[in-house]
Formats: sequence, structure tokens, C-alpha cells
Amino acid sequence: MNKANKLEGGKVWLVGAGPGDPDLLTVKAARLIAQADALVYDHLVGEGIIQLARPDARQIYAGKEASKHTLPQDSINQLLVDLAREGLSVVRLKGGDPFIFGRGGEELETLAASGIPFEVVPGVTAAAGCAAYSGFPLTHRDHAQALTFVTGHLKDGTVNLDWPSLARPNQTVVFYMGIGAAEEICRQMIKHGLPSMTPAAVVRNGTLASQQTLLATLGTLPNRVVESGIKPPALIIVGSVVGLHKQLNWFEKT
Ligand code: SAH
Repeated sequence: MNKANKLEGGKVWLVGAGPGDPDLLTVKAARLIAQADALVYDHLVGEGIIQLARPDARQIYAGKEASKHTLPQDSINQLLVDLAREGLSVVRLKGGDPFIFGRGGEELETLAASGIPFEVVPGVTAAAGCAAYSGFPLTHRDHAQALTFVTGHLKDGTVNLDWPSLARPNQTVVFYMGIGAAEEICRQMIKHGLPSMTPAAVVRNGTLASQQTLLATLGTLPNRVVESGIKPPALIIVGSVVGLHKQLNWFEKT
């Protein structure tokens, strides 16, 4: 990146904003946000991060809460092209990492097809943020030798995933966008061979002061989700590593 104060115009930076805590922005992300002419951001990008923008920067909320899409994806793609064609330096801010369930690839495809130059800045994905601030590692030599990120988002009412591979032992499986499908997820993991006693957790608002961790098992998690009324944004993490939260929690007041 150009370190001068002015960013090159007519260009888009696809930037990961991390999971919530503004301190988890990369130095590069913070610098770009502070310099951009225009900022196009999603629902999961925290207030504290938007405040880093120049007061005169154009700030456009592109939305995307589960089921409440503010701007359709095609319009967002086009908006980025239009802003860049105006000669602006555009920061497209995404929660977490832009290439992990962030549709960052789709947006870049449109930019590439339109001949707009771009750069990508990675961010701390929700799984890494939640694990760190909830106090459990995602891998651990005694617990998990593999780690899988999956989307639990239901397109047509079914979760069409490779359950036999997700239900293998000695791994950690992190479901993004899975709260609405918690019951189906747990049922399928048990059906495909994991013991119902397998530790499972929900982490909501990871890395923010409002972070909440629910510890359960595959058998009890669906009821815990209903009873607690826990809402997105939250991850479901399945695997014995989550049991370490009790010992390693440093952030949440219990
Ligand atoms: N690109 C993002 C993921 C976008 S999908 C990333 O890399 O993190 C949106 C889903 O991410 C939410 O439904 C939720 O499952 C998860 N998520 C994002 N931020 C979160 C947070 N602070 N705490 C818990 N889950 C979060």
C-alpha cells in the first residue's frame, strides 16, 4: 500500500474488519479506513471501527443481517464499481475475514470484470476471535488435529453438508451462521456418529464486551439455544476443545 496520506483513487480495497473489537483490526486495515474517500460496510462491522473513517468520507451501509438484506448483492457489486469509476478510493469493509463466508470473492469478480484495480486485506475471522476471547484453542494435540469451517446457513430449509466427514472424531468444527439450524446441526452430528456428550458451544458477539459463551453438548445445545434466546451473530463450535473454556477463560466475567 501507498503510505502517503492520500490513497490512489479509482480503486477498491476489500478489507477484513475482524470480529468486533476494533483493537483487532490490522494496522493496514486501520490505515486504509482512516484514509479512504468512501467506505462501504456491512452489518457486522462495529461502530468503533466506522468511527475511524475521515469525517468527510462517504459512508454507505450495505446491510446483510440474516434474512434482512439491505442492498442486494448485485447492487453492492455495482456500487463498488460506480464509486471507483468516480475516481474515489473505496474501502469495502467486511466483518471478520473477507474471504471466509464474506462473499468477497463475488465482489472482486465484478471488479475484475469491470477493470477496477483492487487489493485484499485479511482480517481476524470470527472463529479465531471467538476462540481466543472465549479461551479455547481450535486445535490442541490432545483434542483436535483438524479444523473445519462450515456454513450452517439454510438456503432451502435443509443443511446440505458432508455430515459423515464433519462427524469424524479428533477435529473441531465451527459453524458460521448456524444458530437458526442448531437443532438440525446437532441431530446430524449425532446421527453420523459423534457421541451426544461431545462438547459443543455457542459464542455470540465474540470479542465484544457483550460476548456470551454457552457451554453444552451436542445433546443439550439445541435446548440451551432455545432457553437462552441466544441470537446471531454467533458461532457453534463442536469438539472437545471447547471444554477448555472453563480453565482458560480470561475475558468473560462469569
Ligand atoms: N467474514 C466473516 C463471516 C461472515 S458470515 C468472518 O470471517 O468472520 C457471518 C457469521 O459470522 C455470523 O452469522 C456468525 O456466525 C459469525 N460471526 C461474525 N462475527 C461474529 C462474532 N463477533 N461473534 C460470533 N460470531 C460471529
